[in-house]
Amino acid sequence: MASLATSDFSMCDKTYVGHCHCGAIQYEVTTDIQSVVECNCLICKAAGWQLSFVPAQQFELKAGEDSLVDYQFGKNHLHHPFCSQCRVRAFRRGENEDGQTMYAVNTRCRDGFDRSEVEINQFDGANLQVHCAQDFSNCSPTRRKT
Ligand SMILES: [Zn+2]
Repeated sequence: MASLATSDFSMCDKTYVGHCHCGAIQYEVTTDIQSVVECNCLICKAAGWQLSFVPAQQFELKAGEDSLVDYQFGKNHLHHPFCSQCRVRAFRRGENEDGQTMYAVNTRCRDGFDRSEVEINQFDGANLQVHCAQDFSNCSPTRRKT
């Protein structure tokens, strides 16, 4: 088992391919997944997200730019795009508190990703009332409630 990565890139980084149900939206994300975040705020719960967070340079949209329909709510800090064909939400985008663009990738949309091998961190977004719409960084692994 590899040690937890403390930087954005690590020796264990692997490129994962992900897509929506119909395949219109395709992306690649390069990261070392040790854990995913499950948040219980309304949109995370409704969408069933299990999230992995990466900076923009580790995410590449390979196909489907024209098929993305954006969805925003609350303070409109975050983009929750979904596929115009199958309506699956494969990722979302926002800025962390340092102004860096981050992607939260729905790990359920990835090929070849075995969730039984990762730690699932529960984030209590509902009771903390800091759900992901208000502050992207609140759902990041570094800010999770332990
Ligand atoms: Zn689709």
